[in-house]
Amino acid sequence: MKILVLNAGSSSQKSCLYEIPDASLPNQALQPCWEGKVNWNQDGGVAEIEVRTATGEVLQECISGDSLQAHVVYMLNTLNSGATKVIGHLSEIDVVGHRVVHGGQSYRDSVVITEEIKKEIGRLSTLAPAHNPAALEGIEAIEQSLGNVIQIAVFDTGFHSTLPDAAAIYPGPYEWLEQGIRRYGFHGISHQYCASRAAQILGRDLTSLRLITCHLGNGCSLAAIKNGRSIDTTMGFTPLDGLMMGSRCGSIDPGILIYLLRQSDYPVEKLNYVLNKASGLRGISGVSSDLREVIAAINQGNDRAQLAYDIYVHHLRAGIGAMLASLGGLDALVFTAGVGENSSEIRQAVCDAWEFLGLKIDLEKNQQQPIDIDIATSDSTVRVLVIRTQEDWEIAQQCWQILQK
Ligand code: ADP
Repeated sequence: MKILVLNAGSSSQKSCLYEIPDASLPNQALQPCWEGKVNWNQDGGVAEIEVRTATGEVLQECISGDSLQAHVVYMLNTLNSGATKVIGHLSEIDVVGHRVVHGGQSYRDSVVITEEIKKEIGRLSTLAPAHNPAALEGIEAIEQSLGNVIQIAVFDTGFHSTLPDAAAIYPGPYEWLEQGIRRYGFHGISHQYCASRAAQILGRDLTSLRLITCHLGNGCSLAAIKNGRSIDTTMGFTPLDGLMMGSRCGSIDPGILIYLLRQSDYPVEKLNYVLNKASGLRGISGVSSDLREVIAAINQGNDRAQLAYDIYVHHLRAGIGAMLASLGGLDALVFTAGVGENSSEIRQAVCDAWEFLGLKIDLEKNQQQPIDIDIATSDSTVRVLVIRTQEDWEIAQQCWQILQK
């Protein structure tokens, strides 16, 4: 079965093609045979297109003009033409899976996309203005290139639809709930993949495990997972809630917003910009939203970079404490995404806080490139895993399962 995955970001559209045997799903992620990415340069209206195949062919091009959709169509055409050709005809693709950030209250499980569902994804753009419209662009680009191939939406909020009310409902007025203001949680595709992979690495049944998954990329979130279901998470109504992130503030006293809005020079758009783009590691350090650059600045004696790092670790530890309380115990702590997979400093700083519970990591294993392994010592009371997140593979698996039905 040929499964194409589209993963729409606010300024990029990533895509990959998997060939999965019809008979059964492999128990580990396959390598895609083709990967494409369109990056939109916001200032110049230029699209950078990069395509790679499993056999090592690479195409890099910059194109200007045309619509975003036309750029995606251009990228998709490299599947069956030129040096990066991996299939004879686009009609060989059996199904296309899309990562859709917001599924609201209606869409919990992955669904086959219909006109009605497209409308709903569009309607939910008010809740995910940077992402849902980009997913719609991708869906329409596929309609243009592949006609009426089956398309499936996999929602980043879906995995968290099992949150108990006490974790999901904000303690504002009850009417908020009726207006759909509640904790949705995000990064669900990644948390779900990591939970299954953790069970596999530990050789345990997922339904017997209590896990905390730490997705630490540019955006950061934690999930408390019990019996394979998300029971708590740090992101909320929007992806701004929870942990300190690359350029997002995470949870802050809402009184700060009232205070700022009362200042005459603080219109809503400025508030939006400050909280999403000028806060977090970038806002405090004044250096970058990229942790690598913050750490480099610390090594050169930059005090604000050190402060940013310390706040990041403080909030991360506090968030893990909250997840721990929801779970009432812990079998494994899982690190994933850019920071979680690559930063031994952050993993160690987090784990040091839980040593009193008997959680211990092997410092040597932690220093290596520890992907998809357990870095806890043999006598640690809690396993500590580093897992490379594979959101696209998770989407492909869900498409495969829906088609089997
Ligand atoms: P996104 O959330 O956009 O998918 P990623 O999961 O790729 O992002 O994470 C990107 C972030 O990972 C970078 O901004 C950087 O802060 C961090 N990162 C990547 N490699 C390292 C590293 N070796 N050490 C520390 N941080 C890293």
